[in-house]
Amino acid sequence: MGLTVISSSPQALKKQPNPEVLHTRTIDREDFTLPEYGEPDSTRALIKIQDGCDVMCSFCLIPFARGHERSRLRDDVIREAEILVAGGYREIVLTGVNVGQYRQDETDLVGLIAQLEAVEGLERIRISSIEPTTITNALLDRMAASSKLCPYLHIPLQSGDDTVLSAMNRPYDVEEFTRLIRKAIAAIPRLGLGTDLMVGFPGETEEAFEHTLGIARELPFPTFMSLPIPNVLVPLPRSCRTRCRLRSLVNVQDYSRSCPALNAWPLQNGISDPPCPSSSSPE
Ligand code: SF4
Repeated sequence: MGLTVISSSPQALKKQPNPEVLHTRTIDREDFTLPEYGEPDSTRALIKIQDGCDVMCSFCLIPFARGHERSRLRDDVIREAEILVAGGYREIVLTGVNVGQYRQDETDLVGLIAQLEAVEGLERIRISSIEPTTITNALLDRMAASSKLCPYLHIPLQSGDDTVLSAMNRPYDVEEFTRLIRKAIAAIPRLGLGTDLMVGFPGETEEAFEHTLGIARELPFPTFMSLPIPNVLVPLPRSCRTRCRLRSLVNVQDYSRSCPALNAWPLQNGISDPPCPSSSSPE
């Protein structure tokens, strides 16, 4: 069962009181096409090139909500880029659930980027978040050599602990991730990096969390998103310990004072603020 919001024009993308939702048994390429839409008053526009995911991380509902991986038609992407550029947009952000898995026939993500680089008037191409296991040497080489592809990679790590990564069903370990980051830094001048880190995953011990803190300090991420475990698959207690861990991680980025999401995050059952019980027991 697929759920897809249908929109026929940019105007329809404004928040509607009752969104129109299509329920289908299969999901076609056309289902995720929102043509010729850029941010108002911006030189940047988004193009969704891919949808769905086959990875099945244990915390994630996307494979159920968005279905299997599928890629938008290459010529359709190029046509939309040309229309956006003609409309005044100068930068394209390639988006999708798992953009690194883009493929149409012989064209992969790098091939698509090469064709987009040939669009006259398009000055910058940016990749949104990309899974670490889909970053190829060819992509790093392209990013290093291209005058249009922005040197920025947002690569979700999620946890700095192998046991937690395994429980999350993430298809890499910390060493592989670290090696990838070092290779990317060596290959791409002035590379910008970002990541996602999650705290409070079931079974995360104090030691496991320390591993995440350690990797956050060690790797040169100028930006990272720190998130409590999403409360979507099962209701999870938002305990004092998880809150403390999130605060510690946020502090690594010196971001705590400007993190409204953290400050607004309610504690369950009236559990009060720190002092947090220090314990090596899991969440
Ligand atoms: S790779 Fe991303 S979209 Fe796919 S299941 Fe994992 S978290 Fe969800």
